[in-house]
Amino acid sequence: MTDTQPARVRYEEPAPGVARVVLARPEAANAQDYRMLSELNTALDRAARDAAVRVIILAADGKHFSSGHDLAAGTPDMAEFPTVGTSAHFDAAGAEGFMDREREVYLGFCLRWRDIPKPTIAQVQGKVIAGGLMLAWPMDLIVCSEDATFSDPVVALGANGVEYFAHPYEVGARLAKDMLFTGRMITAEEAFRHGMVQRVFPRERLEEETLALATRIATRPAIALAMAKRSVNHALDAMGLRTTMEAAFAMHHLNHNHWHRVNGSLVDPDGISTVRELAKEPPMPGLDPARER
Ligand code: ZN
Repeated sequence: MTDTQPARVRYEEPAPGVARVVLARPEAANAQDYRMLSELNTALDRAARDAAVRVIILAADGKHFSSGHDLAAGTPDMAEFPTVGTSAHFDAAGAEGFMDREREVYLGFCLRWRDIPKPTIAQVQGKVIAGGLMLAWPMDLIVCSEDATFSDPVVALGANGVEYFAHPYEVGARLAKDMLFTGRMITAEEAFRHGMVQRVFPRERLEEETLALATRIATRPAIALAMAKRSVNHALDAMGLRTTMEAAFAMHHLNHNHWHRVNGSLVDPDGISTVRELAKEPPMPGLDPARER
């Protein structure tokens, strides 16, 4: 591993019983390369294994929580980073090697974080695009600022959506289809209304309010928190979350292989400019919340 690059992730202990893991690449809107994801996994493991940590916050430096996967990062040398999964034939020919990479780096990491037996809270501001959802969604609670927006524009790139396919469970089937088909952003208010977000605060109060929530939860017995979390996660699995994700992951790789056959690329290259345009578009107005009340 090269030590010349600054760390992509910072580990903090802002209050007794609370660990805060911070995405620290604000100059790139916290775009995720494999180095960042590997560092994030290591930091979350540290918090998970420290008995003094009762609650984990995942936060981000800068204006935006995360603009998604770093499309400019290129193919990582997987040998540079510790492997945590068992589908690890990363250099295998055909579909196998690439599928193992995405299972390790995307689906595998996200499911690992989702199952940490301690409450986790995503502290979100600004834009959360595509792979950004894959950092917020595996957390148990999402607290965001009023300016937060959430989008998955991956359909415009020629695939079904991000690799951690939780959309129908996060926002309901119809809004999931709306988000996927159009690639539009949903606002904090819309995400709150659909149950994806639990608290919305002005940007300047986001950090203190998230810490207050974490501190409150940290006073509860750790064993009860762990079992409450497992119970709810089992309910989601019983409702089909895991099988939905496996089916969607297979379809996602059908999409990758489609584009590979068509033009030798993993996605539709024409979609990249569309995704850039979507990131600048204001959220679709829909119903005016003020009028609705
Ligand atoms: Zn993919």
